[in-house]
Amino acid sequence: MNRRIYILYTGGTIGMQRSADGYVPMAGLADLINEKIPLHLSASVPEYHLEELDTLIDSTNATPADWRRIAAKVVDNYANYDGFIILHGTDTLAYTASALSFMLQGLQKPVIITGSQIPLSELRNDALDNLITALVLARNYPVAEVCLYFSGRLLRGNRATKLKATGFDAFDSPNYPWLGKVGINIEMEQANIRPPSTAGEQFELPHYDKRVVPLRLYPGIDADYLRHVLQLPMDGLILESFGVGNAPDRDPELLRLLDQANSRGLVTVNLSQCLYGRVDLSSYATGSALARTGVIGGADMTMEATFAKLHHLLMTESSAARVRDLMATDICGELTPA
Ligand code: ASP
Repeated sequence: MNRRIYILYTGGTIGMQRSADGYVPMAGLADLINEKIPLHLSASVPEYHLEELDTLIDSTNATPADWRRIAAKVVDNYANYDGFIILHGTDTLAYTASALSFMLQGLQKPVIITGSQIPLSELRNDALDNLITALVLARNYPVAEVCLYFSGRLLRGNRATKLKATGFDAFDSPNYPWLGKVGINIEMEQANIRPPSTAGEQFELPHYDKRVVPLRLYPGIDADYLRHVLQLPMDGLILESFGVGNAPDRDPELLRLLDQANSRGLVTVNLSQCLYGRVDLSSYATGSALARTGVIGGADMTMEATFAKLHHLLMTESSAARVRDLMATDICGELTPA
């Protein structure tokens, strides 16, 4: 099987080297990979072409413009390769994975995003395994989704979140089962994988220029604070609420401010601070009060998917009403319909 894989190195720990200030991304990853793969095994490595972004970044510095840059590389090379691997820093990897899933809708080939907790340049690392396994997956399993591979887990990109700062098993998808499990054997969970879209590719890569702001509610949040936040320039607000989507309703001014923001066109999505479970605004009076202000329930989406989706819809949809509708609708596997 002569399937060709395109690898894009964007930066991140996987290709970093030590410097006086700590790890920094370094060009020349292809040579390092060749050095690390023992000669007698190199013939078994799936064939690939590796490209590096002109400016390699620590993914902490990634912006929505970087998401687009990465998607554009996939689109530019789409016809010439059978699978794509994006090497990315782990800190904001789940945001980029989510954004790619919205830009690359109708994808017919695997796009696997991965990285590592320890650079390939170190003796002991998780980089080589994540890279080689991602290559094997991209070559042998035509999953037509943006996936995230890390430490034995193949996850849907827009369901994944970074849960551990230092563990090798850093990523999981709390509200969606794994797409595959890699141990001695590779076990794909076909029932969890989206079938390839019959409509074909519908790629859309907007030049993101909207502002989406997450606001975490805390015990005692007051109307004055919210008023100040809402005066900031923003097009979308993610309200990180309690439990199943509850926000304090004792101060009517808080709710009035949200209602007012909604009337002037701000799209506000209510997401739970809990990682597991879903927002249900009808369970408690405190949730219903929020729903009446026009806040949209984000169901069981991750913060990363909600953030990227809101950015994407604010660019691609013509009205706030449409954005609100679609925020509560499953577009590419990021949300479980009620
Ligand atoms: N700060 C690094 C990054 O996100 C961390 C990593 O790659 O693991 O680029």
